Amino acid sequence: MPRKIVHYPHPALRHKAQPVTSIDKELHLQIGEMMELMYQANGLGLAAPQVALPFQLLVMNITGDPDKPECEEVFLNPQIVEKKGVMLGEEGCLSFPGLYQDVRRAETIKVHAYDLKGKLVEKVASDLEARAWQHELDHLNGVLFIDMMGPIARLAARSSVKKFEKAFREAQEKGEIPPNLEIEKLLAALEGRP
Ligand SMILES: [Zn+2]
Repeated sequence: MPRKIVHYPHPALRHKAQPVTSIDKELHLQIGEMMELMYQANGLGLAAPQVALPFQLLVMNITGDPDKPECEEVFLNPQIVEKKGVMLGEEGCLSFPGLYQDVRRAETIKVHAYDLKGKLVEKVASDLEARAWQHELDHLNGVLFIDMMGPIARLAARSSVKKFEKAFREAQEKGEIPPNLEIEKLLAALEGRP
């Protein structure tokens, strides 16, 4: 089955991602697929749990432009080590197509991550880039932007969130999406757990 972006409330989005432990051909293939799906959906970033892969992996291109591969970034096992300032701004998520709401984020962040050579890199980002990184990093911990919304944005998003829940339930009833228990088993198998 071809990999695709899963929508809320798919259980993979709430599953805490495991660290990437080897940089092999399989990982490169997954990264290629994720980049492609991100561009198809006009996104700036995509985290592995959004394609039902339970790993601490994310891809980004802050320009969103597939003709600018020099702006592509891949982070393995990323961690935010420093946050500064606060900013409020609109955010969307490829797992909630069409939903945009204001979310409060740190203005500047410092991230530690591994690159595809297995080298630890330190990066500092501000503004839009810092927002995208914080959003994607949250995905690795099963945290979604609806969790980060303030009370007013959350209220405004409520009917839209309910629609996603209904659509997901209906897709499961039709057999288009496996039952949650089966999805959990697939995630465990990917992690190499019995
Ligand atoms: Zn997202």
